[in-house]
Amino acid sequence: MPREENGLLPMRNWSQDRWPEGAKKIGTPRFSEELKPARWPCSFCVMGCHRRITNPKYGSKTAGPEYETLGMIGANLLIDDLEALVKANDLCNRYGIDTVELGGILGWAFDAYEAGIIGRDDTDGVELKWGNSDALLAMIEKIAKREGFGDLLAEGLRACVDVYPETKPYAVEVMGQAVAAHDPRAFFAETITTIASTRGACHIHGFAEAIELGMTIPELGLTEPMDRFEWRKKGYVGAVFQDVQQFWNSLVWCFFYFFSGVNLSDEVAILNAITGWNLTPKDAAKIGERIVNMQQCFNLRMGLDPLKENVLPPKLSVPHREGGAAGRIPPWREILDEYWRTRDWVNGVPRRRKLVELGLEDFAKEIYGY
Ligand code: SF4
Repeated sequence: MPREENGLLPMRNWSQDRWPEGAKKIGTPRFSEELKPARWPCSFCVMGCHRRITNPKYGSKTAGPEYETLGMIGANLLIDDLEALVKANDLCNRYGIDTVELGGILGWAFDAYEAGIIGRDDTDGVELKWGNSDALLAMIEKIAKREGFGDLLAEGLRACVDVYPETKPYAVEVMGQAVAAHDPRAFFAETITTIASTRGACHIHGFAEAIELGMTIPELGLTEPMDRFEWRKKGYVGAVFQDVQQFWNSLVWCFFYFFSGVNLSDEVAILNAITGWNLTPKDAAKIGERIVNMQQCFNLRMGLDPLKENVLPPKLSVPHREGGAAGRIPPWREILDEYWRTRDWVNGVPRRRKLVELGLEDFAKEIYGY
């Protein structure tokens, strides 16, 4: 089922139910027919998910926009001009701007503009209207050069809300980081990835929706795909996927390989062959668990209040009226509670016994004084 239809894709700053005509203009098959993409892998990658556009109309050395980009600065802003999105993606690549964060911040700005909270006087005369690709391109330049309104946008969603407090409901973020184009209302396993990753709403610190898309981790007991709207065990699954991905990321190996048939046992076997170690997949998960606990201890040291920060953004607490996820809201408090129990954390704080079990006595001493 297409992502526009199954509810995964954000539309109009996460507030629209369907966008079939727009999605057709920027998605497959038009994307391929128009851009004529060719493989353009990272160095030494045998899989090669990146695409180089070969249609000279767009510039043959231009990278093609990926799903997150088309989702966040396309559908999320209701921009269906593929040529403008290619240009915007290229500008972001050259300026070093993350397109997920850009889509989140402009979604906030377009919402605030439409609500009349900000106007042309605030935006240097740029009309932040849904579907306006000129506004997208203008704001990328302003953000990159820290000009006018772009200087505020460059500071991120929380800085924007500080200036315009009444716009808080439009900021779809966790711990200040914009939510990526993976709506937890459509895939409940994504709830923990979204609200309880250690660096905010980071979809590459867990990506637990994989199990609802058919990717299992039998080595750790996750032998069957799960229903995307079943909430039980999703806190547990969220923790397992975080552990595996933290282990995987720590090897500086792209996690996309997991989606193309390289499983945890393969990863561990390769690591053992290189190092001479004799790890098992369970050892690997324990390493990942230790990483997550260390990150959480660091966050607590820096003042994290999990009860305040690990919450579902208000816009994601409103159910869609149409589409494949109509009427669905993940019971995020229950899922979070299960996640914390799985981790042996109390309200987001690791118990002393867990830290000692993981060999993190120094962190235990810092939190508990002994
Ligand atoms: S699979 Fe990973 S390493 Fe390979 S091209 Fe894609 S992002 Fe790069």
